[in-house]
Parts: sequence; structure tokens; C-alpha cells
Amino acid sequence: MIRDAQRLQDLIADIRSFVRETWHPIESRVEHDDEVPAEIVDELRRKGYFGWSIPGAYGGLGLTTEELVLCAMELSQASVALRARVGTNTGIGSEALVADGTDEQKQRWLPRMARGELTGCLALTEPDAGSEASNVKTTARREGDHYVLNGEKRFITNAPLADIFTVIARTEDGTQGSKGLTAFIVERGTPGLRTGPAYRKMGQAGSPVSDVYFEDCKVPAANVIGGKEGVGFQTVMKVLNKQRLHLAALCTGPAIRMLDLAIEHTTRRNQFGQAVSNFQLVQAMIADSRTEIFAARSMILEAARARDRGEDVAMTASMCKYFASEMCGRVADRAVQMFGGSGYVADFSPIERYYRDVRLFRLYEGTSQIHQLNIAKLVLKEHGA
Ligand SMILES: Cc1cc2nc3c(=O)[nH]c(=O)nc-3n(C[C@H](O)[C@H](O)[C@H](O)COP(=O)(O)OP(=O)(O)OC[C@H]3O[C@@H](n4cnc5c(N)ncnc54)[C@H](O)[C@@H]3O)c2cc1C
Repeated sequence: MIRDAQRLQDLIADIRSFVRETWHPIESRVEHDDEVPAEIVDELRRKGYFGWSIPGAYGGLGLTTEELVLCAMELSQASVALRARVGTNTGIGSEALVADGTDEQKQRWLPRMARGELTGCLALTEPDAGSEASNVKTTARREGDHYVLNGEKRFITNAPLADIFTVIARTEDGTQGSKGLTAFIVERGTPGLRTGPAYRKMGQAGSPVSDVYFEDCKVPAANVIGGKEGVGFQTVMKVLNKQRLHLAALCTGPAIRMLDLAIEHTTRRNQFGQAVSNFQLVQAMIADSRTEIFAARSMILEAARARDRGEDVAMTASMCKYFASEMCGRVADRAVQMFGGSGYVADFSPIERYYRDVRLFRLYEGTSQIHQLNIAKLVLKEHGA
């Protein structure tokens, strides 16, 4: 649903010029420094980009799902570090509070997240809880008006710089799987909370990811999201259903950018006395990439509109994430091919970096295999099987 077409167009035009004029020229510096420069983070704050999905009542823009995915497709036509810097606040880092927080909790944290003063993250994954996300071993034991958390979280995006952590922990002894899990907000500086050093990764330099440790970490009972024990997994599922559409959009932007770069290159690069874009085998790669980008965009918009109408998008969101992340990988591969040797050499083109950056999309927030299983399970259920 688009509420005000002109306002949205203005926002998209602003994102477009920011991405092209400010971000593209510094992408290789971000990769080299493994950091988004402080002045860029300040500019993102001033522009209100941290608050896209946070409701207006709590200081954000309160974008609808359709508006959010359109903005995300624009912002992500860039190296992934840009959208990863704001992306936890506009997605998994704030959404549990938006979906299930009490009004008091929302008032306390969301306005500062919307202004980018606080960076959020979601700490669900653990060493033994990856695809089996509900196999959470982190415990939270009630002691008076506090809970005491113990455990270890793995692969947490933005953990090294996050100020607040949405943490899923087991509050009920003897439970397994999705039962007995509770969602908490844990603030940086809480004694017993520690983050590890940022990992060395294949790609996405400038987007820090690390372990998070809880050692007798005392968290006020008032920080239980929604004030309700035992419903943490349901909260996470709400977060992920929306996030899958958001992430699918964030896979589509880099594919658009890589195809743009490949077209620019193939129209300039001459072999056999003509631009290589004249060769039909190269044109097939352009056509396949553009077609798949269009398919992803269409699916995402359709599913986003359905979510805005209040429909259940569990299956379509899964389809969008699965298709868009795989599509982006295929476009990245073709882009390297269209660049020839220059696609493999970082000194000659940014495509080598994009190729590494986008590989992660097929792994996180549900691997492709997990989405295949989820889609099949829901389809079979429709058929009563
Ligand atoms: C850089 C990075 C950032 C991340 N950010 C976050 C974050 O911010 N917050 C967070 O909570 N998590 C985050 N994650 C975790 C991410 O969501 C998990 O890595 C992902 O869910 C896969 O889990 P795993 O790595 O344990 O792989 P595994 O579950 O060990 O899977 C290994 C392989 O087995 C396959 N497999 C597993 N089970 C099945 C099955 N039943 N059927 C078929 N195949 C199967 C998988 O598809 C995969 O190919 C991040 C991960 C990375 C690498």
C-alpha cells in the first residue's frame, strides 16, 4: 500500500541520489577500512533512514511493507555495507518491539532507534541453533524482578556496534524447540553482556558480525518483550515473515546494480571490432538477468501488498526470499562473466566484491534449503497432505 505517492517518490529520489552521488564513490574505501565512515552514518541519521519501518507515533516514517520494499530496492543498489548499517534498525533489530513490545517499551527504545542514536540487532542464532533456530540453549532464569541470562549467540549482524540486543532465551526448564522461549531487550553496558571481535568474512566488509556472550547477565523483567514469557518464538516468526520480504528486496537492489555495471562495461568493451554487448551470447545474459530481476520485483511487490492488506504471507515471503537471493547469485555470476577477466580482479572492477558480498543472501535468514522445505510444507498443507 502506498499512502502518499508524492512523498514516496521524493524519498526514493533522495535515496537514489544519495546512493549514486555519495555512496558509490566511497564503496572501495568502505571495503578497505572495513567500516562505514562516521560522517555517512550521521548523514543517514539526518535523513531519517534508520526509522523507515518504525511507526510514526515512535518517531519513524512508519512505511508500509510496499513502501519499505520499494525504498529497500533503491538503497541496496549499492555495496551491502550501506543497507546493513541501517538495516537492523529498519528490520530485525527493531521489529520485535514494533510487533509485540508494550507501549512503554516502544516509547523507551524506538524513538532513539528511529533517530539512529541506538543501533539494534537480533540475537537468535547459536552454535547449535542455526537452521534449527528453535534449538536455543541460552537460558534466562527468573530471580525476583530480574532474569539472569547465560549462553552464547553466534553470527549476530551489527553486534560489535549495537546498543540494544533483541535476545531469544529459554525461560522454561525442560522445554524443547519453540516452546518456553522468551524475547528480551538487553542493553549494551549490562554487566555480563559481552560481544566478541568482528569476524573475518568472505564479503560484506563494513558490516560487522560477531558472537555475543551472556555470563550471569542480569536483565530487568521489564525488558521481556510484550511482558509475556514463553512467546518469544512467535515474536521471532512475526519478525522474520516481514523481514523475508525486506531481505528479498535487499537482494534485488544489488542485482540491479550489477546488471547496470555489466551493461556499462559490455557496451564500452570492444572485441572483434565491436562492443561485446553486440554479441547475442552476451545479450542472452543481459536478457536473463533483467527478466529475473523483474520476476523478483513483481513477486516482492505482490507479497508486500498482500501483507499490507493483512493477509498471511508466510509462504509467499519465503518464496520471495528464496527466489530473490538465488536470483541475485545468478546475476552476480553472469556479471562476472560479462566483465571477463576484469570481473575477477578487484583492481579493475567492483564486480568481484559484489559477487562475494551477495553470497551471504542464500545463507542467512533461512538458507535456500530451509525455504524450500518451508514452501513445500505449506503447499502440502494446502493440499491436506
Ligand atoms: C554473516 C552472517 C550474519 C548473520 N546475521 C545473523 C543475525 O543478525 N542474527 C541471527 O540470529 N543470525 C544471523 N546469522 C545466522 C544465519 O541465519 C544462519 O547462519 C543460518 O540460519 C544457517 O544456519 P547455520 O549457519 O548454522 O547452518 P546449518 O544449519 O548448520 O546448515 C548447514 C547446511 O545444512 C543445510 N540444512 C540444515 N538443515 C537442513 C534440513 N532440515 N534440510 C536440508 N538442509 C538442511 C543448510 O541449508 C546448509 O546448507 C548470520 C549468519 C551469517 C553468516
